[in-house]
Amino acid sequence: MANLPDVKKNFDLKDHNTMGVHANAQYFASVTSADELRQLLLQPDYKILPKLMLGGGSNLLFVNDFEGLVIHLNIKDRAVIEENEEELLLQVGAGENWHETVMFAVENGWGGIENLSFIPGSVGAAPIQNIGAYGVELEEVFESLEAIDLETGISKTFDKKACNFEYRDSVFKKELKGKYIITDVTLRLQKDPEVNTTYRALSESLEEKGISDPTIKDISETVIEIRQSKLPDPAEIGNTGSFFKNPVIPAEVFKELQKEYPEIPNYPAGDKIKIPAAWLIDRCGWKGKQIGDAGVHKVHALVIVNYGNATGAEIIELAEKIRSSVFEKFGIVLIPEVNIIT
Ligand SMILES: Cc1cc2nc3c(=O)[nH]c(=O)nc-3n(C[C@H](O)[C@H](O)[C@H](O)COP(=O)(O)OP(=O)(O)OC[C@H]3O[C@@H](n4cnc5c(N)ncnc54)[C@H](O)[C@@H]3O)c2cc1C
Repeated sequence: MANLPDVKKNFDLKDHNTMGVHANAQYFASVTSADELRQLLLQPDYKILPKLMLGGGSNLLFVNDFEGLVIHLNIKDRAVIEENEEELLLQVGAGENWHETVMFAVENGWGGIENLSFIPGSVGAAPIQNIGAYGVELEEVFESLEAIDLETGISKTFDKKACNFEYRDSVFKKELKGKYIITDVTLRLQKDPEVNTTYRALSESLEEKGISDPTIKDISETVIEIRQSKLPDPAEIGNTGSFFKNPVIPAEVFKELQKEYPEIPNYPAGDKIKIPAAWLIDRCGWKGKQIGDAGVHKVHALVIVNYGNATGAEIIELAEKIRSSVFEKFGIVLIPEVNIIT
């Protein structure tokens, strides 16, 4: 039987969230295996407490201290569990770093996740919002995941259907929010991969570099270059990437908006239309604005940043102001992509 992990009291989470805000966890434990996690969950002292799962802290915002137990997933492991000539199943522990896992796949010539290079955070959190970038979403390579029920400590396998993936969404942000802890994720990767260059910024960059027949390594390197040029590094300026989701609106509503703003950028999303939230925010004059230490990034209007000592509450206050002005001008309600922990 695994040992009980060390549980710390009154633990400062500043180094565990990329926004870099101070918040205390009443209790904090880092778990390195599913057995250790079960041991922790079954302890009577912690059983009744509210719990928060934590990976790299790159998609959450602490508004207050967390009165309960923060469980940091540090389960590390990568193994090919099945393969044939064309493809393989790679099982990865929840605590593995997502980008390092992408690099591992690319180095081995296994395709499918190269467009998702350089997304911060852990493998275990990747299914929570069905991470996506540069024309690819996790669900396209997702095979299954193992998760432990917080109440019972029993493991359950979720296939793609059970995860109910949508744009930056899954069952784990809706019906099963806070009910399961993902312990590992299995990806289906290709040995003779076809690359995806449908995303315009990616195909243009490849063209500029004179690459007409890109490998997965070329895709990965180009995605990393584009991301580094556009997004602030959380190690330098606190941020959580895109703060809001890009709104998806009915086609009729879009047509009305387009009459007033003919230049409005738009992308088809099934029978609806997706509009870049960054454009809406920029149009409301927020790009580069700062209130105290909370601000809107100078290059990317969708990224809210912490220039130093902003609190979670100050970041939320700014986000609310942005939401109100976008609603007043365009009638569109922005929904946070970031998980707000109150
Ligand atoms: C600079 C920057 C760029 C980004 N770019 C992108 C992008 O291009 N595309 C994109 O999709 N995202 C992007 N993100 C957001 C973020 O990187 C992803 O959402 C990532 O998957 C979060 O991983 P994490 O381990 O940091 O999760 P955390 O922030 O630790 O947690 C996020 C949520 O998942 C829950 N959770 C975490 N681990 C588990 C687990 N094992 N089991 C159950 N619940 C869990 C948490 O409770 C929380 O609700 C970006 C963030 C930053 C800072």
